[in-house]
Amino acid sequence: MPNKLTGHRAAFHAAAQSAREQRGTWRRLAVYPSVRGSRTTVGRISNGKADFAPQGSWEAYSAACDDGQAVWARYIGGGPRPAPMPDTMTVRVRYAGEGPKHEGVGVLTVTISTRCPRCGGPRGWDKVRPYRFTHHGERITVDAWKNPCGHEDVYAAVVAESRQEQRTTPVELIQDAYAAREIGVHASQAANLLVRNGYADAAALVRGEVKNRGGNLTTLQAVAFLQDLGGGC
Ligand SMILES: [Zn+2]
Repeated sequence: MPNKLTGHRAAFHAAAQSAREQRGTWRRLAVYPSVRGSRTTVGRISNGKADFAPQGSWEAYSAACDDGQAVWARYIGGGPRPAPMPDTMTVRVRYAGEGPKHEGVGVLTVTISTRCPRCGGPRGWDKVRPYRFTHHGERITVDAWKNPCGHEDVYAAVVAESRQEQRTTPVELIQDAYAAREIGVHASQAANLLVRNGYADAAALVRGEVKNRGGNLTTLQAVAFLQDLGGGC
């Protein structure tokens, strides 16, 4: 007598069947509360267990998503191997500038994951297209892409993500920008830089310290302050 599948297992089995019918298309098979659970499943898929036989006929990966760790897989058996998905993609994005006058509008080149941060699915990394526009008479070219999952990437979030991808700490970020003379002596510029790069918490700490010292805090004092707090957050 066949085992009666529980709801969770039945859904997993159905997703695997459907993925097998759409060879080469990445499908989300399951979401786990922990990395451990998702890695176990990725291992089973890679080893060709149960639904995923024979070994080598599936690719799978685990990625963070809104509600945990997602397992994505695609069936690649019975035909030529599709191009592998790279881990990262490098794209040009628009930096929106600062303040009401949008000063410093321009293009940033950033490296981000090829996985959507919302669902863990592949981004449209293989369909990146140039997007041209004019801003105050200046011609600007950035990159545009559409994610197959339907989640849209917002430029500000992409910039913040690229900083995390490179594991740049707030302290490193400020030091690099200061050395390159992208920011000046006053710590308020360091705080603005942190905000632009998605480090709102560190920026708030620096602004608080600027206030504590009656407005007299240099960029390098801000670095020392962040380091004292523990390795730059
Ligand atoms: Zn998505």
